[in-house]
Amino acid sequence: MSEELNIPYKKENIIRCLCPTCPVQENSVCVREKIMKTQEKLHGDEDLKPEDYPGMYCANGKAECEDIDTGKDCVCPDCGVYKEFELENAKPDFLYCKDGKAKK
Ligand code: SF4
Ligand code: SF4
Repeated sequence: MSEELNIPYKKENIIRCLCPTCPVQENSVCVREKIMKTQEKLHGDEDLKPEDYPGMYCANGKAECEDIDTGKDCVCPDCGVYKEFELENAKPDFLYCKDGKAKK
């Protein structure tokens, strides 16, 4: 049975996540709105909830936004979180936004 990796959902990792800049999400109105809300919360004291932020899908599960284009290239391999948790050895190996959390 596959085991989910425990990637902490915390600001330090959220800031390193490249999903908001990924071509898969670049034309999504839904993602753009979530990024604006994320910026407000990252600069305030309020905790960021997974449904607020359009990224960290390796920790968090699939994207809630439906207007993304998963035919484009995933940029996860350039991400610090991906490198730290050696996600090149995890499943799915790309497109966590489409396929869900990282697993061993
Ligand atoms: S590995 Fe991908 S989904 Fe996970 S934090 Fe990095 S860019 Fe985001
Ligand atoms: S999981 Fe990969 S493909 Fe999906 S938004 Fe993040 S970087 Fe892009």
